Amino acid sequence: MSNLNILVVEDEDAIRDMLIMALGQSDLQVTAVASAEEALRILADQNIDLIVLDWMLPGISGVELARRLKNDASYKQIPIILLTARAEESDKVRGLEIGADDYMTKPFSPKELIARIRAVIRRTGKLDDTGQLTIGDLILDASQHRLTIAGQTMDVSPTEFKLIQFFMSNPDKVYSRTQLLDQVWGRSVYIEERTVDVHIRRLRKILAEFDREDLIQTVRGFGYRFSLTG
Ligand code: CA
Repeated sequence: MSNLNILVVEDEDAIRDMLIMALGQSDLQVTAVASAEEALRILADQNIDLIVLDWMLPGISGVELARRLKNDASYKQIPIILLTARAEESDKVRGLEIGADDYMTKPFSPKELIARIRAVIRRTGKLDDTGQLTIGDLILDASQHRLTIAGQTMDVSPTEFKLIQFFMSNPDKVYSRTQLLDQVWGRSVYIEERTVDVHIRRLRKILAEFDREDLIQTVRGFGYRFSLTG
């Protein structure tokens, strides 16, 4: 599970500190903030793999943030686990209706939360427990920063690695250059759209050495798609 970046949004200091420690000890990277507004800034800037989100927050509430993220093409694929002090069944239903992937009632054990994080990550098709992502004969090992195709190691730069990691985490979907910039480079970085094309070209060139350049397909007038089936 290493290399997974978990965003914790919780305004209660004690719970936030407890989560930072518990998640950190289980080999997860943690970014913790106290409000939805701060969470939005982090999301614009970092690749977040999962959000642990408190329901009741000052300012924009956790539920409202979850609703916004699930309606935003750039963020809706990020899994969300909602934390709440309420135990009513109707709240649970509401949380899941707005698109939260799981739900925990306070007080909860950090161990239980970590188990839920692992389950949600597995279910949503991100890295498995070994930190590997497998699509066909392509294996990406995030912890070792290694990409192999049919057992052969591919030599890719950090940016191309991030790009193919994003594609392998989100196969068969079309992404515009702007969406790829947001997802792979982060929103706050100013980079021209053609930079995306440059890196796509490099990635294809590397894949071409293995006769697999067709994995990254150009969707005319829109962007790119990663798919095993042309
Ligand atoms: Ca709270």
